[in-house]
Amino acid sequence: MRRPTPTVWVGRVPLGGAHPVAVQSMTNTPTQDVEATTAQILALYRAGSEIVRLTVNDEEAARAVPEIRKRLLVEGVEVPLVGDFHFNGHLLLRKYPKMAEALDKFRINPGTLGRGRHKDENFAEMVRIALDLGKPVRIGANWGSLDPALLTELMEANARRPEPKSAHEVLLEALVESAVRAYEAARELGLGEDKIVLSAKVSKAPDLVWVYRELARRTPAPLHLGLTEAGMGVKGIVASTAALAPLLLEGIGDTLRISLTPAPGEPRTKEVEVAQEILQALGLRSFAPEVTSCPGCGRTTSTFFQELAETVNAHLRARLPEWRAKYPGVEGLKVAVMGCVVNGPGESRHAHIGISLPGSGEEPKAPVYADGKLLTILKGENLAQDFLALLEDYVERRFSKA
Ligand code: SF4
Repeated sequence: MRRPTPTVWVGRVPLGGAHPVAVQSMTNTPTQDVEATTAQILALYRAGSEIVRLTVNDEEAARAVPEIRKRLLVEGVEVPLVGDFHFNGHLLLRKYPKMAEALDKFRINPGTLGRGRHKDENFAEMVRIALDLGKPVRIGANWGSLDPALLTELMEANARRPEPKSAHEVLLEALVESAVRAYEAARELGLGEDKIVLSAKVSKAPDLVWVYRELARRTPAPLHLGLTEAGMGVKGIVASTAALAPLLLEGIGDTLRISLTPAPGEPRTKEVEVAQEILQALGLRSFAPEVTSCPGCGRTTSTFFQELAETVNAHLRARLPEWRAKYPGVEGLKVAVMGCVVNGPGESRHAHIGISLPGSGEEPKAPVYADGKLLTILKGENLAQDFLALLEDYVERRFSKA
């Protein structure tokens, strides 16, 4: 069951409440480069990012934001934009009201607002601007930029305990405390529950699970999940999944961003793809038809099985844009492509439509199941094309609006 929270609207996208967990991403182009940043936001949006964050780190970036917004509107795209502010956010938001207006949410990091009295004043200024404009904020603490004064305060309090906790435990407590205190301060300044999203990011999965359980226990705010600095490639994907899955299954988390370091040449949209795959694998959302295929083993006779799995995947990717327009709910389609009859028919029966290829030593025929029943048995050289034709028929029959 989803943890109950107020709904926070970020532009047209609702976060929290009973709304689906939203996918976010962040650009890595210099915001000052209007053309490159607009192009990347469009790519992220078209890949499925429902909210896009961009850094607003200096005056040139602040001036670029309204122009980026204008160019997106020319493309007919109204994806919510979030400004990521550190150190000088209060100054930029005050000096560039058009930038503030063009954004749908401000990300405020309580650890990068200065020290002491200045920190509180800068925080209050950003919150007041959000209040005046009716914008929501994300209070986003990060253990890489934790307020040292708060950490020192909690370390000293810990030292006075009869049984002090480890420095690492106190660090995590300080991170949660930083986010919670900033949340309470924003509420005291007048920001409504429906205007605040919270996050507190760390880079290790077990730590993240602990931190978010604490945030969920101590505040009602919708939570933005993400493992910070998750890393590259398989490591980053696995670490993010390991961290986010337990929380999402407990109903904790209302939006997420996967912080992957792209390999050189790898598209930024990878982080959107991974976020969608995590939500789909957990059964929380459906973004695209799913292919269940077995890993293959000594019973698979040739690479034909792998080629068929790839052909079916490619066909689904290519047909999805048109299918989406014609066939509502087609994102929930489940297809099985199995290497032999050991698990093939069983898995096919669990899918909407599935095929089992003949394994080594088996008769050269491939049973196809649809809606749990044997539909036909395919044979011969055109097996792949024949299966795709059956798939097309099935989609039309099952998902057609008529
Ligand atoms: S379904 Fe058949 S080919 Fe695939 S892994 Fe299982 S035994 Fe091997």
